Amino acid sequence: MNQNIRNIAIIAHVDHGKTTLVDKLLQAGGVYRANQQVEERAMDSMDLEREKGITIKAKNTAVRWKDKIINIVDTPGHADFGGEVERALRMVDGVLLLVDAYDGPQAQTRFVLRKALQHGLKVIIVINKIDRENANPQKMYDQVLELLLELNANEEQFDAPVVYGSGRDGYMKRKLTDENKDMTPLFDVILDHVPPPFARPNQPFHMLVSNIDWSDYVGRIAVGKILAGKVNLGDTIWVLRHHSEAKARAKITKIFEYAGLGTEDAITGVAGDIVGLSGFEDVDIGDTLAAEENAHRLPFTDIDPPTLEMQ
Ligand code: GDP
Repeated sequence: MNQNIRNIAIIAHVDHGKTTLVDKLLQAGGVYRANQQVEERAMDSMDLEREKGITIKAKNTAVRWKDKIINIVDTPGHADFGGEVERALRMVDGVLLLVDAYDGPQAQTRFVLRKALQHGLKVIIVINKIDRENANPQKMYDQVLELLLELNANEEQFDAPVVYGSGRDGYMKRKLTDENKDMTPLFDVILDHVPPPFARPNQPFHMLVSNIDWSDYVGRIAVGKILAGKVNLGDTIWVLRHHSEAKARAKITKIFEYAGLGTEDAITGVAGDIVGLSGFEDVDIGDTLAAEENAHRLPFTDIDPPTLEMQ
């Protein structure tokens, strides 16, 4: 297990404040992954962008808090198309259930929450926008508990910790009567409550492609959580296509980790982390990437969804 990583998703109805909350988390925590000099890196990436005209606007986000990296996987706020929600949830171990303190839980909250509960994910309730006039955080918290009951949350999920706050004003608190003025309580609850990713560091590399990102510079980027082993720049791996028996070799030309709203280049991707890889002639969502040693295993059954396996 990689103790320094936490993988989460945010479940929120549109307008309940997801974007604003993530911005505040990024401001409060760090955005750089490695311990390199921040200024130097900022320069690097600016030069690189000037030279190559690259913009990699990542779907996922990562924020640093103390010595931990919290990967925040994007889940669509709209209804599910083609299993997008499912794929996102397979990469994470916990969800922030973000609910507007005035509007309460809504249809889309419910849809994604149901799936998260089925996957056995940990839940953290965030009652947001408590600064709103006529906000009723206590009542909305009760409504969330009712919803959890109705959706058959297990005992542990029903015991979800709650944080109240205002993403806009940049504070979160464990109790409504607390006077806290920053985002620390939310970070602390995430680190305490969401387990490190389930993965097998000592096995050959294995990853399920959960999403595809794109950059003009490197083309298609296969995004997913590394389920086993590690991958190094320059490694030759197998791509096992999900819709056929076909497989092809690929040489990894870039490894991206998520950092803030963008990405950082890495030399190695480690078990449990969510990374982007490039170097494929062809790769698609649902494909399996595997080291030579386990290329004979057919797509993705024996290390099937980590969260389900743990139940
Ligand atoms: P998203 O659709 O969930 O990503 O929501 P946004 O972060 O874009 O926020 C939607 C609207 O709610 C924007 O007008 C925000 O300024 C506002 N908003 C976000 N967080 C808060 C908050 O904590 N308090 C109040 N009063 N408004 C907020």
